[in-house]
Amino acid sequence: MDPMRAQRLTALPPYLFTEIDRQRSQAVAAGHDVIDLGVGDPDLPTPAFIVARLAEAARNPATHRYPLGIGLPELREEIAKWFASRFGVSLDPNTEVLILIGSKEGLGHLPLALVDPGRTVLVPDPGYPVYQSATVFAGARPYSMPLAADHGWLPDCTAIPAPVRRDARLMFLNYPNNPTTAVADLPALQRIVSFAREFNMLIAQDAAYGELYFESRPPSILQVPEAKEIAVEFHSFSKTFSMAGWRIGFAVGNAEILAALAQVKSNLDSGTFQAVQLAALHALRQVDHPEVGGLRDVYRRRRDAFCSGMRRCGFELATPQATFYAWCRCPSGYDSMGLAARILADANVVLIPGVGFGKAGEGYVRAALTVSQERIEEAVERIGRLHL
Ligand SMILES: *Cc1c(COP(=O)(O)O)cnc(C)c1O
Repeated sequence: MDPMRAQRLTALPPYLFTEIDRQRSQAVAAGHDVIDLGVGDPDLPTPAFIVARLAEAARNPATHRYPLGIGLPELREEIAKWFASRFGVSLDPNTEVLILIGSKEGLGHLPLALVDPGRTVLVPDPGYPVYQSATVFAGARPYSMPLAADHGWLPDCTAIPAPVRRDARLMFLNYPNNPTTAVADLPALQRIVSFAREFNMLIAQDAAYGELYFESRPPSILQVPEAKEIAVEFHSFSKTFSMAGWRIGFAVGNAEILAALAQVKSNLDSGTFQAVQLAALHALRQVDHPEVGGLRDVYRRRRDAFCSGMRRCGFELATPQATFYAWCRCPSGYDSMGLAARILADANVVLIPGVGFGKAGEGYVRAALTVSQERIEEAVERIGRLHL
């Protein structure tokens, strides 16, 4: 118990990377050349045409005032247009689009808007930790839906006990998935929407990696005909356009859910810098710009280098269809903590143990391909020398 902190902080899931963090700092302090495939922080700069638009917009004093509200109308209209052309889904820009200070901000505030204390929220395991923390902050109870390879890393709704189904108010989904890199196809999303409707649950689908795909384009959950009755989808500029530091994202879908989230936000923040919104508009209008496609090509080459290299080292891993991660099975004799610790100690390469994303992540480690291809090749070579 920390006498300074509110109890809700002690109710957060334990931070499992302390040991890896400590080892990493120690290795760096000792002067070792550490290759960090830990945190998924895009290393490639934002395309120049977007930066130029920000600079221009920032010179206009009209952008300097409080942005307020649900976002600039011209940006919301552009998002609706993009959604129609990308997914064939029509959105009302005035009620079905909400601008966020990054998608994490919206995901983090959503349970406050929708879920009463004591109710249940279904969260994917392994999963992005925000779903669980946001649930705890709202005084609600996270229930882990285990994802497994033999089920395509999709939640097995039939395995959720009846009392949990009845009590669940909200389900978080994340496809393309961090950390497993899995993509959900439309029939899978259709099945989950049917399940949620049957049990009166709402759905928050996190599509932060929706545009970071290598083969076919992942569907939007809003392509499921009835989804808009119960679902919202979160999109980000951070990964698509390498704009992680800019803090802008958006949510689309059910108007009542978005209005509730907007109400929470209006009491906590005052919107996203308008110059950033104008630059984001410019980015989205040119989502097929060669510089944006170039980012995807870099990640694809890194993916291919990492996957083929790791397979040569004897690792088992599926080729990711999306995201900038790779999700590798631990060789026999290692759990995920043990493997990450060994690779850090003896190869100076940081990987995240799968168990850090939830119990069901045990048996895997995640590599973030957010360093150069040369460094990835170097990391693989060092891991290979360990003969694990
Ligand atoms: C990176 C990431 C986000 C955060 O995106 P922002 O728009 O930068 O807040 C959300 N969800 C997942 C799964 C992520 O990996």
